[in-house]
Amino acid sequence: MARVFNFSAGPSTLPVEVLEQVQSELLDWRGTGMSVMEMSHRSPAFESIIRELEADLRTLIGIPDSYAVLFLQGGATQQFFQIPMAFLGDGYADYIITGEWGKKAYETARPFGKVNVPWDGADTNYNRLPVDFFTDRFAAYTHFTSNETVHGVQFPGDPEITGTWVADMSSDICSRPLDVTKYALIYAGAQKNLGPAGLTVVIARRDFLAGSSNTLPPYLDYRQHDKAGSLLHTPSCFAIYVTGLVIKRLQALGGLPAVDSVNRTKAEIIYNQLDGYFYRGHARPDARSLMNVTFHLPSEALTKRFVEESRAAGLDGLAGHRSVGGIRASLYNAMPTEGTRALAEFMTEFRQQHG
Ligand code: PMP
Repeated sequence: MARVFNFSAGPSTLPVEVLEQVQSELLDWRGTGMSVMEMSHRSPAFESIIRELEADLRTLIGIPDSYAVLFLQGGATQQFFQIPMAFLGDGYADYIITGEWGKKAYETARPFGKVNVPWDGADTNYNRLPVDFFTDRFAAYTHFTSNETVHGVQFPGDPEITGTWVADMSSDICSRPLDVTKYALIYAGAQKNLGPAGLTVVIARRDFLAGSSNTLPPYLDYRQHDKAGSLLHTPSCFAIYVTGLVIKRLQALGGLPAVDSVNRTKAEIIYNQLDGYFYRGHARPDARSLMNVTFHLPSEALTKRFVEESRAAGLDGLAGHRSVGGIRASLYNAMPTEGTRALAEFMTEFRQQHG
């Protein structure tokens, strides 16, 4: 068996220890005589899996009881419309657009009511952040994307001022410490830092949820999912199980401060390779993502060659998104430091050969 270093933007690499545990429990989950894949979501065994995940996630991030933790489906893409359907009402929302995903969230929300764009970085192809967080007390909510997966632009931390903040944290949740109380609602697809695809985590203040629309189908009503403990219908059972194992591992590694410290080291290893000439970073230095490092080579031909040769060297998934081009190295939690070292060495050699 030969595993590659997988730099894919998502679905993405998972901790090998977790995959091994899944393998060892695949046919018989802890004496139940069945796989989690085969288990009723109403069984005591699965109840224990989902409740343990919730408890562990609350401990890892520090989520107070005044917040609901929901395990939903539909991806972040569903949140793009579920949020405006639930919270726009007769008011308006602000969308701060720092990249491809913020733009998608905004465009999806538009048919549901009034949405404003107080800041949009399109004029420099989303390589920067607003100078400051700003707030609009009258907005139903202000939406932003903490980490823009395509452009490689990340806010340095939580918003520093009050406001009804809604954040898409799909590509940086659990990669660093987080003050949940700064937010009304946080959502994230699991398939980058948390686990397999098919699961969307929503963390929301219960008094914010209380004000949501009363005319939605139950499936789109966050309060119903909260009341049912995310068992309103059949959830993504297997993804919930694997995510539970990932969260336990993050806790064992020392929690989010320790995870953050490793992530900073990993990102620095790659950013140190960007010399501004042969490897040109896409994001401005003060907006750089620790999760998705985006950069360009001097030509299309060299970019193509870089992708091909890196793949042959066991470094997979490095082609950039078509809207940015170039290379994107995704360094989520489960990417080991040795993987980033291997990439940095490859970059040095490639530059020596072609620079
Ligand atoms: N938001 C961000 C920041 C993302 O990175 C992605 C997926 N790459 C999405 C939203 C869309 O997520 P999904 O495919 O889970 O709907």
